[in-house]
Amino acid sequence: ASAASSGWNLESSYARLPETLFTRQNPIPVRAPALAVLNRPLAAEMGLDPEALAGADGAETFAGNRLPDGAEPLAQAYAGHQFGYFNRLGDGRAVLLGEQRTPSGELRDIQLKGSGRTPYSRGGDGRAALGPMLREYIISEAMHGLGIPTTRSLAVVTTGERIVRETLETGAILTRVAASHLRVGTFQFAAQWGSEDELRQLADYALRRHDPQGWSEAEAAGADGSGRALRLLQGTVLRQASLLASWQLVGFVHGVMNTDNMTISGETIDYGPCAFLDRFDPATVFSSIDSQGRYAYGNQPYIAAWNLARLAESLLPLLHEDQEQALELAEGALAAFEGAYHGRWLEGMRGKLGLLGEEEGDEELVSGLLRLMQEQGADYTNAFRALTLGQTAEAGLCGEAYEDWLRSWSGRRARHGEAAASESLMRRSNPSVIPRNHRVEEALAAAETGDFGVMERLLAALADPYAYSAEQEEYAAPAPEGGLPYRTFCGT
Ligand code: AMP
Ligand code: MG
Ligand code: MG
Repeated sequence: ASAASSGWNLESSYARLPETLFTRQNPIPVRAPALAVLNRPLAAEMGLDPEALAGADGAETFAGNRLPDGAEPLAQAYAGHQFGYFNRLGDGRAVLLGEQRTPSGELRDIQLKGSGRTPYSRGGDGRAALGPMLREYIISEAMHGLGIPTTRSLAVVTTGERIVRETLETGAILTRVAASHLRVGTFQFAAQWGSEDELRQLADYALRRHDPQGWSEAEAAGADGSGRALRLLQGTVLRQASLLASWQLVGFVHGVMNTDNMTISGETIDYGPCAFLDRFDPATVFSSIDSQGRYAYGNQPYIAAWNLARLAESLLPLLHEDQEQALELAEGALAAFEGAYHGRWLEGMRGKLGLLGEEEGDEELVSGLLRLMQEQGADYTNAFRALTLGQTAEAGLCGEAYEDWLRSWSGRRARHGEAAASESLMRRSNPSVIPRNHRVEEALAAAETGDFGVMERLLAALADPYAYSAEQEEYAAPAPEGGLPYRTFCGT
């Protein structure tokens, strides 16, 4: 069968943008591709044929050895503040094959990650190891199951090649699907090294792709490039505010919120050193290289706002001819972050506590619980899970202050009567399973020996984390006590 029969329907809109923004680059072929995991539901959603992709053709395609019809591979240029320091970057180990037009009419980037060196590789080998690629696959699919906007994972193949890290590792390539790979850092790159016209083309492209309604409204209102750039900034601020609220609500720690790892689409991207909270503590950091705690759980919303300010700065030349007025427009757009974030967060917390309607004291009720959780080292996910199941003695909390809190909480719930509605709201708002670090590690270790069954079972449990099914129960247990603090490493 030819690649065409797999259902590829690729467009190359990014390849039509100014050439400063990318370099044409084919994936570098690998020795012996073999499929490790294929996301069949996602393939079907994209208009691709899972059966065709599950065969040898699919492995060759996902390895970059064979290009799907219509592919115009390229590596994207971008820049980024990494831990606060500005660098010129770009896809150093990835290529965009093109954008798949799905049966529902959406456009989805298809990117191979680990596909070999590019002009942006600097000292790197352009390759990726199996463990981190499967880790991205598992956690991104878990985020999707949680209902959080995210890039997704279509497949992982092993390459039949060894790559050199601290030890020799199994080489692998991840096929990543995204609303786009436009980053804050893409705009920083264009602002720094492109012309104003190139920057405007990029901004218009982003607005058309990620806010088609904003684009048409701007058109209808006769808005010029300035109006469109402002609309892009406003929309990105709101998408990121909403994303950050979702992260905080489930206890997701991204770990490396550099500006090159923050999307314009509002999807979570770049699952390197991320992990979920176990004990509730705002100072939680998992990444081995984040010694200052810059990207700690409790800092994430502030970092997002800081990153958005870098986007605003990059857009200044477009926002207004008069740079003082441009600055005012930018500040106005950025100011919306705090309220939007806090509104979404409080709404989400009301859901987690099953609070119908709104009352003055709701926020105090939430912070009272979080304070107790922090003082007593309660497991964040399981405390809410226990409250959802009405097992208040199993929440990992005790003492008089907790008893007082429980009384206030049930008083607040009783004032709104509808107990069944409150309970179902809690079930929709509190996952019973998250990708626990020790279960992810266990799945990766088995995969390394060629056994992918452990990972498949974990993925099945994570696909619908709000199901509260019996099969999921074993995945809810926290890591055994007494282990060393969990440490993550930047995706290698
Ligand atoms: P990240 O920390 O994953 O956001 O990556 C930061 C930058 O390093 C990006 O430009 C990547 O493309 C690049 N990079 C990461 N790993 C490699 C590698 N093995 N070879 C080449 N470039 C890499
Ligand atoms: Mg990155
Ligand atoms: Mg990475």
